[in-house]
Amino acid sequence: MPEKVVIIGSGPAAWSAAIYAARANLKPLVFEGAVNQENYLNGTLPLGQLALTTEVENYPGFPEGSSREYLRTALPSEVQPDWVQSNKPQPSRGINGPEMMVLMRQQAVNFGTRIVTEDILRVDFGAYPFVLFPSDTASESEGQRVEGTRLEALAVIVATGARANYLGLASENRFKNYGVSACAVCDGALPRFRNKPLVVVGGGDSAVEEATYLTKYASTVYLVHRRDELRASKIMQQRALTNPKISMKWNRVLLDVLGDDKDGVTGARLGSTLDSGKEEVAVSGVFLAIGHTPNTTFLSGQVELDEAGYIRWTQPQRTYTSVEGVFAAGDVADSYYRQAVTAAGTGCMAALDAERWLASRGEH
Ligand code: NAP
Repeated sequence: MPEKVVIIGSGPAAWSAAIYAARANLKPLVFEGAVNQENYLNGTLPLGQLALTTEVENYPGFPEGSSREYLRTALPSEVQPDWVQSNKPQPSRGINGPEMMVLMRQQAVNFGTRIVTEDILRVDFGAYPFVLFPSDTASESEGQRVEGTRLEALAVIVATGARANYLGLASENRFKNYGVSACAVCDGALPRFRNKPLVVVGGGDSAVEEATYLTKYASTVYLVHRRDELRASKIMQQRALTNPKISMKWNRVLLDVLGDDKDGVTGARLGSTLDSGKEEVAVSGVFLAIGHTPNTTFLSGQVELDEAGYIRWTQPQRTYTSVEGVFAAGDVADSYYRQAVTAAGTGCMAALDAERWLASRGEH
């Protein structure tokens, strides 16, 4: 029997779609992604980008306050954050990203969503029912992906989000995990970064957020931006520009990450965007925050994408894609807003679109 609705992804779009689909009795099956080294390095582990952030201040419904009691009662003990059951202080003033994602997942589970902790490696949307090819992590060796049992679906919601970009420098690749990272929240507290100067590259909200977060540990954070004005929102800009531990490196790009096999990253070579000037700064870490790439490789040739690889929505106010019965939600189809709340909104829309589409075919 084909599945009625398969949802691929595990960020706010996927869980909102799952909650709506489950409540519509569509018995959704969610592929939340595999837990493996490749996904760790790519920043595509289950629970998406919010699981890699700190405080979430702009998702409605989570004002500043104590979330300890709520997390303790809403979540089974095995998925509660450590600090909830211990005497540790609450790490955020309201809710933080990983907590929010576990809550969303739990809400979907509460309504009967089934979850598989695997990736979808490829799809055949030319067939109907659609065919999906999941990974089989348990059978993999030396990072070689292995396909598990294929499955069929009457409708598919793609909500695989986007991942952080790297510059593509050879030196950046060489020192990944040895001082180069695209996730301050995941790696910032490591001993190698404590009380040391660090570089963050980028000028958007992510760069400012990461730089601000890293000032908790670092002695100085050089924020390297290729222009003389930040792209980040005004409130975030103000935080960076008034933080005494953040030193702006305007009109600069990262040319090279410096280091050696023993110590990992020891410095960064910066180049001016205005002239041929170059400088070296001694740092023990380089964090990239230069935008995102949508997670659509597995869809290759199966659904229409835009030039940047985002799925194209084919009708205004709908989550339809170029394939009837395949819907897209969240950052995988949105290079413009890219917010948790907009992702959740389009996840809801995708579930309603899928439900109506299945009903119109007499499948629901
Ligand atoms: P972004 O807004 O696209 O900013 C990317 C930054 O990286 C830009 O400043 C860009 O420079 C720079 N950049 C891009 N490619 C580069 C390259 N090859 N070399 C050097 N610099 C490069 O991405 P983001 O900061 O990840 O934010 C994405 C979305 O998430 C936004 O909508 C943002 O508002 C949202 N977000 C919100 C929060 C929050 O509200 N707390 C936190 C994080 C992200 P230019 O400015 O010169 O183009």
